[in-house]
Amino acid sequence: MTTYWRVHWKHSPPFGRENAWSYAYNEEYEGDTVNCPTCKSEGEVDCPACGGDGAIWVGPRGDKRPLVCPTCGGRRKVQCGTCEGRGIVSDRVRRGYSAFTTPRSLVRYIDATLNAKADDPVVVFSGSQIGIGHDGEPLVMPDMVNVRWTSYGALKLSLAR
Ligand SMILES: [Zn+2]
Ligand SMILES: [Zn+2]
Repeated sequence: MTTYWRVHWKHSPPFGRENAWSYAYNEEYEGDTVNCPTCKSEGEVDCPACGGDGAIWVGPRGDKRPLVCPTCGGRRKVQCGTCEGRGIVSDRVRRGYSAFTTPRSLVRYIDATLNAKADDPVVVFSGSQIGIGHDGEPLVMPDMVNVRWTSYGALKLSLAR
């Protein structure tokens, strides 16, 4: 079992084995497409904030009241972050999360390709490599045994020490 580091973008579906897919970024949706594996081509997924209830419960224990979910506005669904609502993705979709075996290699990759902000979430997790990503990075299936969260800013700060 190996430990991996990954930027898990805020718009991504919840971190988990069923959502472990990798996409080629910076690529047009040209050529062949396939149905989005995250939303099953519906273009929407259950709202992660309310779990699809449309409401969140607030207040003291025993006196909780429903509040319209601020994330989905009560719609229960939010746009699928994988396909951005299109319902289709490039057929270059691959199984497994794009991830790195050291925080330094993650930062090197992210800073060269994608623009991560300090508050973008970073997940540190255990799993096994099951493939090779579009940029040669490991594609990893998490085993969900060890899952720890930090932020991109905190990670970079720890490397600078
Ligand atoms: Zn989708
Ligand atoms: Zn919601």
